Amino acid sequence: MTSESKPAHFLQNIIREDLAEGRVSKLATRFPPEPNGYLHIGHAKSICLNFGLAQEFDGTCNLRFDDTNPAKEEEEYVDAIKRDVSWLGFEWNGEARYTSDYFDQLHEWALYLIREGKAYVCHLSPEDARHYRGTLTEPGRNSPYRDRSVEENLALFEQMKNGEMAEGECSLRAKIDMAAPNINLRDPIIYRIKKMAHHQTGDKWCIYPSYDFAHGQSDALEGISHSICTLEFEDHKPLYDWFIGNLPVPARPRQYEFARLHLNYTVVSKRKLKQLVDEKHVDGWDDPRMPTLSGQRRRGVPPRAIRNFCEMIGVTRSDSVVDVGMLEYCIRDELDKNAPRAMCVMEPLKVTLSNYPEGREETLSAPGHPVRDDLPARELPFTRTLYIEREDFREEANKKYKRLVLGKKVRLRNAYVIQAEEVVKNDAGEIVEVICSVDLDTLGKDPADGVKPKGVIHWVSAEKNVDCEVRLYDRLFSDPAPDSGDKNFLDFVNPDNLKILQGCKAEIGLARAEPEQSYQFERNGYFCRDSRYGTAEKPVFNRTIGLRDSWAKEQNK
Ligand code: ATP
Ligand code: MG
Repeated sequence: MTSESKPAHFLQNIIREDLAEGRVSKLATRFPPEPNGYLHIGHAKSICLNFGLAQEFDGTCNLRFDDTNPAKEEEEYVDAIKRDVSWLGFEWNGEARYTSDYFDQLHEWALYLIREGKAYVCHLSPEDARHYRGTLTEPGRNSPYRDRSVEENLALFEQMKNGEMAEGECSLRAKIDMAAPNINLRDPIIYRIKKMAHHQTGDKWCIYPSYDFAHGQSDALEGISHSICTLEFEDHKPLYDWFIGNLPVPARPRQYEFARLHLNYTVVSKRKLKQLVDEKHVDGWDDPRMPTLSGQRRRGVPPRAIRNFCEMIGVTRSDSVVDVGMLEYCIRDELDKNAPRAMCVMEPLKVTLSNYPEGREETLSAPGHPVRDDLPARELPFTRTLYIEREDFREEANKKYKRLVLGKKVRLRNAYVIQAEEVVKNDAGEIVEVICSVDLDTLGKDPADGVKPKGVIHWVSAEKNVDCEVRLYDRLFSDPAPDSGDKNFLDFVNPDNLKILQGCKAEIGLARAEPEQSYQFERNGYFCRDSRYGTAEKPVFNRTIGLRDSWAKEQNK
């Protein structure tokens, strides 16, 4: 669905009015991630919203790293976030920005508040400060340090800045109202001591602004017109407005909130995703099982599927849980339209065509896609020995089984009709080979005797193919709400979330498959070559998603 065919959401309406009535001359939004982890599917909602609005209303969208906490942040995350935003298909306005670019200005503004008598250095221990803060039902009490003189505060803050105080010894607090019903207004900390190098500013600072002191002012400095954030920041808005109202800022951004994306069978919290990585439940942030954008990319999810999904779920102010089946639907839909077709046998069973000459090889042609003529046709070598799927052959079967049965016919996809004549078994009684006859007068037509085979199965030449490993992923969690209530999400990691198959045989053209290029392995699902594992001789293919929703079936049982 495009934005034209869908009713406008509340933010589109607000922006349209602001522009029409001249309150805002140009829309300016931003996406402000904290570089403390990789972006996940929840962030995609915010990215598509902020960048999408800028595109729709001919405005700009900045990428700004909200990097006020050096303890948890890393350059690796900065790079990954940039890669992921670009991959989703968006371009930020100018260079990427950093809240740390504004540390000098924020420090100036802290001094400004002190001089105005609106900030003070407080020596309460974190524990005492908690007691003084009060609760939701009880007002707080004034800190005994609240009435320090401007001179004393300036001198103490200077000492904090110069590293003359220990971490936790004191902090700078805004002087607002300890009895305010909104706890965020009870003299919040605006600067704290952290003797720690920062990934952008190095050793320059040992005091860092709080997120709340930095966020709104950064928006003002960048001339952001609409500061769009998630609902949990609604309670912080009065504080942001207080800072904006009490500081000589160059602009007054307005904040609007929308509901976060929650997906069932998924966790979207960087902290929890980091735990999965650190405790090795997965193999890194970009593990194809992860709901991170880099994990989804490596798994073969096209960026457009994610954009379509974000469009489909819409933007509201009410919290709800979205069925992950919707995301899967968008992925299948996109892949079905665009993924070239190919054949790959997962568990090979050898077939020998007794009436096909040894050493002969012909090249059959198969369409790249059932309807997309722009996708090139494939060349399939056809030889005396082939592989079919082990589960596609039975010695005996009832009529429901429309595959190869001893004494019966089946069509090889894009090729001839064969008939199973004889079974070869090993000492253990397992079938190791099926001897078949091939009817060479059946390419693109029914057999001359009019007996039409009931089934079509996929195959590859046993003489010319790509030996590969295939990784079958399933949902990372087996519970629809793995982190709800007081559940520990780690208890619900799906034990069958990865199955690795070796010795799979793919059609020869897949030797040239590139990572992120998706294929439909006919009758099997959508796959792409892994970007990390495998070699030129033996690639690894990741299953992006099956052809059908097996979970819906499971639930309807
Ligand atoms: P997390 O809880 O995963 O740590 P966060 O909100 O702390 O998420 P940020 O890096 O601060 O992560 O997020 C950057 C932006 O992405 C913020 O504006 C935030 O509101 C938005 N965002 C994060 N998670 C979601 C989500 N699940 N749905 C929609 N927007 C989200
Ligand atoms: Mg955050």
